[in-house]
Amino acid sequence: MSADAEPNPIYRREEVLLAPYAMHSTDSAGRKHPEPRQTYRGPFQRDRDRILHSGAFRRLSHKTQVFTGDMGDYHRTRLTHTLEVASIARTLARALQLNEDLTEALALAHDIGHPPFGHSGEDVLDECLRGDGGFNHNAQALRIVELLENRYPEFPGLNLSLEVLAGQSRRAHKHSPPSQGGAAPLLEVQVVDAADSIAYDSHDVDDSLELGLLDLHQLLAVPLWREAAERVRQRFTSLDDRQLRRAIVHELINWQVDDLLSVVQHELASRRVASVGDVRRAPVLVAPSPQLAELKLGLERFLFKHVYRHEAVETKRNEARQAIREMFEILLAAPDRLPSKFRARIAQDGAARAVGDYLAGMTDRYALDEHRRLTAAGG
Ligand code: MG
Repeated sequence: MSADAEPNPIYRREEVLLAPYAMHSTDSAGRKHPEPRQTYRGPFQRDRDRILHSGAFRRLSHKTQVFTGDMGDYHRTRLTHTLEVASIARTLARALQLNEDLTEALALAHDIGHPPFGHSGEDVLDECLRGDGGFNHNAQALRIVELLENRYPEFPGLNLSLEVLAGQSRRAHKHSPPSQGGAAPLLEVQVVDAADSIAYDSHDVDDSLELGLLDLHQLLAVPLWREAAERVRQRFTSLDDRQLRRAIVHELINWQVDDLLSVVQHELASRRVASVGDVRRAPVLVAPSPQLAELKLGLERFLFKHVYRHEAVETKRNEARQAIREMFEILLAAPDRLPSKFRARIAQDGAARAVGDYLAGMTDRYALDEHRRLTAAGG
């Protein structure tokens, strides 16, 4: 422990509560722009607060997770999905004695780079920016927190700790082969990935049932759902459909969390993981058991076929794709129509990227309004 960390109660608290393989605040590599320590908040608490207070975070409330806002007001938005991920990730982190503040900061930031209209928005921006490095929501999250959020006079972006940036950067590159000598991510990063998957596998079924895209009978073809339903029926004998559905969704979350914790605890013990260094040298340890992974895959395939490709969802998606593409073309041809914040980035990043940043930051509703404005006759 470094000498100036000694009097800080945050660091003493972590000494008592965190496992030796957790990321301790006192071991943080710091920030790109060094800042003095605070006595009442640790570095990862500050990261979490900065993310929570950012404009990009607030705009998640009007961004699509899977279903657009005009389909109802029950289903998850990008914001409520993020909060569910943060809640599950905190549960996992506390049970494993990991750094909850770091985990929460990573969870709150994990989808901050999503453009309007979810993956459709992402796909069309990727096509539009193909010649300029493409578009990916994980990489965009890094641009936002390092560059585009402009809230502090001392530095661009949010100047987050290097651990949060590395965690997000790893998400941006998780489909590329590991770099030479590539180390495994911190357990706090691994936990957020797992919590994301637990959250969407549970809530997408719930939302689809509420929207009438699926019915309970159809889901009996999905072994994961069938088994969860069986567990619920053993405990409760007279639930109506709505109560049954909610109980099954809770069961799905609890089952996945229980399974994950027992796998991780077993891995940590059998590999004698006793430090962050050991975590770095081990393979990724936070993963469901092979049996549950297989069942999750079955559910995901079912959702892909029956929900993500559902006609009602596809129709909205095509409208959104077209609106984003048209706006991209109009603004690329006339970048002087960009707001000054984005115009100012053209010299450094080129017009295409500046237009992409502007479009990616929009909420669903703002994107449709702006599309109307830009395509209006003489607009
Ligand atoms: Mg997510």
